[in-house]
Amino acid sequence: MIVRRRWTAAATTVILFSAVLSHPASGAAAPADPAAPIALSATETAVVRVQLRDQAQLDRLVATGADLANRPRARDGRILADLVLNGSQLAELTAQGATAVQIVQRAGDGTRNHADSVRAAQARTAAGLRAPAAGQRTTAATAVDTLQVQQAYWWTTGGQTFLQAQVATTATDDPDVEITVSWRTADGATGSFPLYRFEDSGEYQYHYNLPQPVPNRPVQLSATSSLGGVSRAVTPALWPNAFPPPLPAGYQKDFIDAYLTPVDIQARIKRLARQYRDLVDVIDLPNKTQGYRRNAAGYLGDPAVAALVVESVRFGDQNMNGVQVRTVDPGRANRPLTVGYRDRVLTVSLATDTAGKTVSTTDEVAAAINARQPDRFRAIVEDGSAGLPMPVAGPTRLDDGLQGTEVPARPWTVQALRLGVHRDGSRVGVLAYSQEHAREWATPLVTLEFAERMLANARTDPATRELLEQVDIFVIPTVNPDGANYSFNDFNFQRKNLVNHCTGAARDPKNRTSWGVDINRNYTVGSYFDGYVGASANCLSGNYAGTAELSEAESGNVIALAQDHPNIKFAMNVHSYGGYFMWPPGAYRADGRVTLPRPSIDESTLFLNSARRIVGAIAQERGTVTWPSQTGPVADVLYSAAGNSADQLYYELGIFAWDFEVGNDRWNPATNQWEGVGFQPPFDEAHGESQEYAGGLVEMVRVARDYAAAEAAAG
Ligand SMILES: [Zn+2]
Repeated sequence: MIVRRRWTAAATTVILFSAVLSHPASGAAAPADPAAPIALSATETAVVRVQLRDQAQLDRLVATGADLANRPRARDGRILADLVLNGSQLAELTAQGATAVQIVQRAGDGTRNHADSVRAAQARTAAGLRAPAAGQRTTAATAVDTLQVQQAYWWTTGGQTFLQAQVATTATDDPDVEITVSWRTADGATGSFPLYRFEDSGEYQYHYNLPQPVPNRPVQLSATSSLGGVSRAVTPALWPNAFPPPLPAGYQKDFIDAYLTPVDIQARIKRLARQYRDLVDVIDLPNKTQGYRRNAAGYLGDPAVAALVVESVRFGDQNMNGVQVRTVDPGRANRPLTVGYRDRVLTVSLATDTAGKTVSTTDEVAAAINARQPDRFRAIVEDGSAGLPMPVAGPTRLDDGLQGTEVPARPWTVQALRLGVHRDGSRVGVLAYSQEHAREWATPLVTLEFAERMLANARTDPATRELLEQVDIFVIPTVNPDGANYSFNDFNFQRKNLVNHCTGAARDPKNRTSWGVDINRNYTVGSYFDGYVGASANCLSGNYAGTAELSEAESGNVIALAQDHPNIKFAMNVHSYGGYFMWPPGAYRADGRVTLPRPSIDESTLFLNSARRIVGAIAQERGTVTWPSQTGPVADVLYSAAGNSADQLYYELGIFAWDFEVGNDRWNPATNQWEGVGFQPPFDEAHGESQEYAGGLVEMVRVARDYAAAEAAAG
């Protein structure tokens, strides 16, 4: 890791979100809707919102490389985590005290939602219609202790007003202090709700709760504690209280009408370049990916008894799919173990004893294949089969197992769009990149909608034209196309790329959906290799960091683009889901939760003020408000992401680097719960996300323009 920026010393930790609970949630809202039982068969995979027993359980999950779908958060005093798991893993967690509260997305939902989106788009095209406009709009969107209201914000979304508060007690060491917030609205209604204690690294931070519905605009809020403490009454502030310029008449948007595969994205890039020749360059990023390819593999023997995994050294599509492997009994006494390859059949003739009985073991056969056919085949003894007699078996057909029939198998060239009137480095640069994580299908919709809005309106809207005069915009719609192809065609929940760095038994094809590198854990700053938390050395983990920093083509491409264009000063790493807006530091060390250095006061102010503007622009579309408690440094929204890209862009390249998690929880008034939307929701939701977050990216361009103007004015 190279860090060449200067910083202020790590300031007092400003925790927006943490979650060590120390007392049961008295008076808490009811848990999950009891009428909706959560059922998941042992082998079915799903995204499940799970209420964990405690912080230790979350720490264990992170340490063992659990596949966390979004950032854990607290609700009613308990930690909620969305996990990708199967029924038996869920049963194990439940036995350890966790409770499933929502099935967010089941296996196959994504495939169905993709197909539905394409069908609906075709039907609309046939009927001469456009994609449906986004959903609803909103209008605005003798006391022992002393209490201080640190934050009190309100906002309205979908016609419902919410209030969120954060209050600190001076009785910091008393884990039993209960704090209640009371509110009064403009029209005189009153009510109250409890807050819950939060600690980080064993240190008390404050009391807090999720946004609570209130009937109207709250005008007064105060807090009382069980120790008799009373806060001053405060007037809750409007969040984010930033309003982008209204869209001019005739502003063009809504360019997304179905989920887009990498092939679709490639075609879209090509079309934009053709249609807006004067405003667009297409940049081929330097590292080709592996491609939608895998080694061909198969079991020789019965895995339940005695078997080898045999795989091709080359990829299946390189003439290795369909190759056969077998063991044979030579039918004569005293024969040696031999290996031969002819006519696409690998034949292992087993050794025999004086009585003509085969005597080769699994290990001997694997060693013989590896020694005599090292350029074509790799043989691995199946777990539990070591030292067993090798059966006469096969022929087994080797296959890469890939289901996608319309995906080119060759290495993929990842492309960036460069938009602007002056694409020569003379203007401040902005980078938006998406789909580091394959399954986050809504994210390229966001960046492509953003790109096309800028281009289409540049011809008709003077304000957009002016932005393209002043700002140099870079967009990578899909950083991880191979993983995305796998996610669309083979396994909807694929997060990582397709490169399999596993060795030995971990290469067993039964692990095929767990291979790959987590691109957003493969960067150089605050990485797993530097001792930071939130990535894994286990090649089967959802957060596998790779073999080294920047070992992967995909992460190298993002950095290469940023390095080649030093005018880039702002970046947005677009992920899903959960409704977060974050910035560095994004990681902390295991020992004492020491984060990467905090930004300076000035930079923190820039991050927060810009965030409010961008959150305001997101809300402009359909009223979605990213919570104040989910707007802040990555490490503070509860988990550490070692080796993420924003940290490298910020600490090493001096770029103001943010992360979106698009797909905010939706409020369900019937259950009084916030509900997760998942990675691949029914298309209407993904479409809504693309529209609102594209608006957020347009505001980021305005932030960059204003920043450059202020720098110029300062000389
Ligand atoms: Zn992600």
